[in-house]
Amino acid sequence: AAKELGRNCFHFFTSSMQQASVERMRIAADLHTAIEEDQFELFYQPIVDMASGRIHKAEGLIRWHHPTRGMVSPVEFIGIAEDKGLIVDIGDRVFIKATDQVQRWRQLLPDFQISINKSPIQLKTNRTNHVDWIDHLRALGLPGDAIVVEITEGVLLDAQNRVTTRLEQLRNAGVQIAIDDFGTGYSSLAYINKFDINFVKIDQSFTRGLKPGASDLALCEAIIVMSHKLGMKVIAEGVETQLQHDLLAEAGCDYGQGYFYSKPLAVDDFDRLLEANRRSAAIKV
Ligand code: C2E
Ligand code: MG
Ligand code: MG
Ligand code: MG
Repeated sequence: AAKELGRNCFHFFTSSMQQASVERMRIAADLHTAIEEDQFELFYQPIVDMASGRIHKAEGLIRWHHPTRGMVSPVEFIGIAEDKGLIVDIGDRVFIKATDQVQRWRQLLPDFQISINKSPIQLKTNRTNHVDWIDHLRALGLPGDAIVVEITEGVLLDAQNRVTTRLEQLRNAGVQIAIDDFGTGYSSLAYINKFDINFVKIDQSFTRGLKPGASDLALCEAIIVMSHKLGMKVIAEGVETQLQHDLLAEAGCDYGQGYFYSKPLAVDDFDRLLEANRRSAAIKV
């Protein structure tokens, strides 16, 4: 019976693996069309200044409007796009959308910043026909610090020359750098400090466990104190409750991002949120 069961399991396992790989192939094929037809949209999630409640930063998060599947999450296609060498094209589109948008929002709020996620493969590519980000910023008349590039710790850990050179070129143009999902990898703040980093984003797995006396609170407090001493600002990701917000604000965290403030929004909805935020901030002053 055990053997039979084992065989069934094996059979089930391979067929679901086959299904998964067929699914990946379909997504990969559809991604080519998606790039040609630009089926992507950036949603924006506010990054809230914890002390003032002001919103003058947002993270751009990609969404794919698939003709038959509907809205597809980046979790389902970024990995495939990386494997198939499509992430550079997608990343360039994300960058162009983000720069157009930040230019618009800067007319209302001159210090507005949009952060975008950059996959390690985008930094490693040796393709020369990609969009020159620095030229593009210059052409729009935008200062580099209108854009923040989010990278993960891993990018710095296996940093080859090409990656550090690319980062340095962006830094020299004024573009700011954030470490995304901090605490999930194996790097330390001491190591990160060797690179010129502006923001540390505390991963949502730490924010989730925040309560008075919890070890995750001690961890967040330590990250905040140390980041500040090293000249970096801290953004907490995945803030979902008032308690998490209060504990982080109390600990001196600079910015919060999460469902407690808002989920990622389409541009029109973000416009409304921004308008309401400006009005309430004006009342406070
Ligand atoms: P990330 O950069 O760490 O982005 C944060 C993710 O957490 C987003 O998921 C966001 O919607 C979600 N989130 C925000 N607040 C909360 C909260 O309070 N609770 C919980 N549970 N989740 C929250 P999303 O949009 O599905 O993106 C997932 C990941 O896909 C991103 O993680 C990023 O690594 C990647 N990604 C998104 N857009 C791009 C892009 O344009 N390029 C690249 N290379 N990667 C992207
Ligand atoms: Mg991010
Ligand atoms: Mg993150
Ligand atoms: Mg993440």
